[in-house]
Amino acid sequence: MKHYAERVLVTGGAGFIGSHLCERLLAAGSDVICLDNLFTGAKANIAHLLGEANFEFVRHDVTEALSLEVDRIFNLACPASPVHYKHDPVQTVKTSVHGAINMLELARRCGARILQASTSEVYGDPLSHPQKEDDWGNVNPIGPRACYDEGKRCAETLFFDYHRQHGVDIRVVRIFNTYGPRMHPSDGRVVSNFVVQALLDRPITVAGDGTQTRSFCYVDDLVDGLVAYMELDDAPPGPVNLGNPEEIAIAALAETVARLCGSRSSTVHVKLERDDPARRRPDIARAADLLGWSPGTELERGLGATIDWFRELLRTVPEERIDVARP
Ligand code: NAD
Ligand code: UDP
Repeated sequence: MKHYAERVLVTGGAGFIGSHLCERLLAAGSDVICLDNLFTGAKANIAHLLGEANFEFVRHDVTEALSLEVDRIFNLACPASPVHYKHDPVQTVKTSVHGAINMLELARRCGARILQASTSEVYGDPLSHPQKEDDWGNVNPIGPRACYDEGKRCAETLFFDYHRQHGVDIRVVRIFNTYGPRMHPSDGRVVSNFVVQALLDRPITVAGDGTQTRSFCYVDDLVDGLVAYMELDDAPPGPVNLGNPEEIAIAALAETVARLCGSRSSTVHVKLERDDPARRRPDIARAADLLGWSPGTELERGLGATIDWFRELLRTVPEERIDVARP
C-alpha cells in the first residue's frame, strides 16, 4: 500500500466521512490527528482507532485557533445535514468561515497542504445540469440554507485568497451527497432516514412529490477521491466535484430502500422545505481527468452495506431512542 504523508490532521474526523478517512489514512501508514468538537460526530465512530499508536483524538472547536505541526490538513469540520446546520445557523457560519481561517493560518505556518471539504450546495438550486465546476451557483443568500451554503462559499473564497496571497498549497473539493455506514441515524438526511424508517416498518417520509433528484456516492469511493487529490503533487487548486453521477428521484430512492430492506413501510408525503434544490448531479469529468477517479460502487450495493450497518445499530440501540428527524 502506498505510504502517505507523515502527519495528517483531519478536522471533523469523528464524523461520518471523517472517520472513514481517518481509517484509510491510518491503514496507509500516516500519523493521524483527528480533531472534532463532537457536535454531530461521536467517539463511537473512532472507538476502534483509539488504541492505534499512530492515532490521536483532540477535542477542539475549529472556530478557535490551535497550534500543531502537520504536513497535511483535511478540513471537514462542519455539520452537514440540514437539520444540524440549521440548529445553530450562526455557529454554522462561524465553523465554515472562522474554521477556514484558523486551518489556513495553521497550513501557512507549517507549510502544510490543505484540502477543503466544500459542497454541491455552493451551486444552490442549480441553473445548469449536470453541475460543472464553472457554474457560479444560484444560492439564496438570506434563506434557511444560507448559513451552510454561503459559509461554504466564503470558505472557498478564503482558500483561494490564501493561495493567491500567501502561496498556500490548497485543494478544494465539492462533495455531492454521500452515504454509507456511520451516518447519524437522527440527522434527517434522506438515506439514513429512509433506511431507518424501512427497517422499523415506519412510514417513509418523502418530501414534496418526490420528483426532486439527487446523486448518491458511497463513502469509500469519496474517500478514494479525497486521498488521491491530496496526494497529487503540483495539482491545480480546484474546485473539483466528487460525487456519483447516477441520478435518482427521491420517490424512487424510497422504493429501492424499502425493497432492499424487505420492508412493509408505506410512503407518506411531507412538506418540502424552502430552497430544497430540484435537481442535482455532478459532472465529474475534471476529477476523472485529473485523478483518474470515478465512483465504482453501484447504488444498490452501497445501500446494501449501509442497510447492514443500520440493522446492526438497531440491534444495539433501543427503538424508542431512534428519533428520525423530519425533513
Ligand atoms: P458529519 O456531521 O458527520 O461530520 C462533521 C464533523 O465535524 C462532526 O464530527 C462534527 O462534530 C464536526 N464539527 C462540526 N462543527 C465543528 C467545529 N466547530 N469544530 C470541530 N468539529 C466540528 O458530516 P459529514 O457528512 O461527515 O461531512 C463532513 C464534511 O463533508 C462537512 O464539511 C460537510 O460539509 C462535507 N460534505 C458532506 C456531504 C455529505 O453528503 N455527507 C456532502 C457535501 C459536503
Ligand atoms: N428528503 C426526503 N425525506 C427525508 C429526508 C430528506 O424526502 O426524510 C429529501 C430532501 O427534501 C431533499 C433530498 O431528500 O430533497 C435530499 O435531502 P438531504 O437532507 O439528504 O440532502 P440535501 O438536501 O442537502 O441534498
